[in-house]
Formats: sequence, C-alpha cells, structure tokens
Amino acid sequence: MIETNVKNLISEIPESNAFGEKITLVAAVKLQPPENINRAIAAGITDIGDNHVQEFRDKYAMIAGNPRRHFIGHLQTNKVKYLIGKVDLYHSVDRENLAAELSTRSAAAGIVSDILLQINIGEEASKGGFLYGEAENAYKAIKKLPALKIRGLMAMLPLSDDESALKALAARMRTLYDKLKAGDGNFEYLSMGMSGDWRLCVDAGSNMIRTGTNIFGKRNYN
Ligand SMILES: *Cc1c(COP(=O)(O)O)cnc(C)c1O
Repeated sequence: MIETNVKNLISEIPESNAFGEKITLVAAVKLQPPENINRAIAAGITDIGDNHVQEFRDKYAMIAGNPRRHFIGHLQTNKVKYLIGKVDLYHSVDRENLAAELSTRSAAAGIVSDILLQINIGEEASKGGFLYGEAENAYKAIKKLPALKIRGLMAMLPLSDDESALKALAARMRTLYDKLKAGDGNFEYLSMGMSGDWRLCVDAGSNMIRTGTNIFGKRNYN
C-alpha cells in the first residue's frame, strides 16, 4: 500500500543526520505509472526522481502537486536537451562531456542548472561515476562551466552483505563531500542510500536518499 509505505518511511527517517542536516527523501519513480506517483505525492512525497528521459517526458504533465524533480539515472548527452529547465537537480553527472552539454544547453536557455557529481565509490565496472581519485580534478574542471551549480555528490553503494565494507565506503563518500564542501558554499547534498541501505547511508552522513521499492513495492520490469 503506497500511502502506508510513504507514511511509515517518512516516520522512520530521522529529522537530521549526525551532522545536523535535514534529510531529503526522493522517491525513485522508474517504471511507476503516474497514478502511483501521484498517490505517493498525496501521501507526503515532495521530491521524485526519474531514470529514463523518455519516461520522464511521457509522465511529466501527468504528475500532480508540483514536486521537485530529480534526474537520477544514466543520462545520454544527446538527450540532455529534453530535460533542460524541467529538472531541479541532476544527480548523475558522471562525465565531463555530460557536464559540458548540460552547461551549454542551460546557458542557451538562460538558466543555471543544479547538479551533483556521481562518484563510483565501489569502483564497479557496471556503474558510472568518477573514481574517488579523479573526483577533485573533475570537480575543478566542471566548476569552471558557467551555467552549472555543483550542489554536492551522489553515490550508489555496491550490492553487498558486508555491512562493515559498505559503512567504510559510505564514510569515504562523506569525507570527500566534506573536503569539497569546505571550499564551496554551494555544497548542500550528499545523495546516497536506496531502499536496502538508506539507514547505513544516513548514519554515515548522507542527507538525501532515493528509494523506490520501499515506497512502491518490487518493480515489474516486464
Ligand atoms: C532505482 C534507483 C533507486 C531506488 O532503488 P530502490 O532499491 O528501489 O530503492 C535509487 N537510485 C537510483 C539511481 C536508482 O536507479
């Protein structure tokens, strides 16, 4: 039951993390029909995150309640043009050429777009994102782009049962976030945590979580 799931989840999320930061819940809405998304919004969801450009466009006008819109999935450079001006925060900026395209298109539209840099914290071949060791150079290069504002970092932890290894990776992300944030007043978001690992991520200092399954149930990929 979506309404119950939303209420339970909101009640389980602490008011703030150990750093005193408020935690933002983004509902991951991939493959959900607009009715389900609107039910979640009516039950208290304020932020929604899409993975696929086509789905985002198809459903865009059918979403009620004016939630903040996040783009959280892999983004092809040639599809950026469809999102400009419609996304409040791009989480998955994982390559410099994607950042360049976002900046060019944002400038042409006369806006500045808010982004997060995605970090491949588990160094997984299957995931996008800058490697930990590349992150500062990527940050410096992207920081120069005129029509983007870097608001923080995003990461997906590996799927693993090894809690202590996951905690160590999440803590590493917070360390990198704090290092960059120390020199950048625009930093506000560390987006890390999904249905299976959000508690661990919030404990490590995440202040933005993206969950789908614990709101909508298991996704139907057929
Ligand atoms: C699907 C997705 C989520 C949510 O995953 P759940 O396990 O369903 O909570 C979070 N972040 C990204 C980038 C996703 O693609």
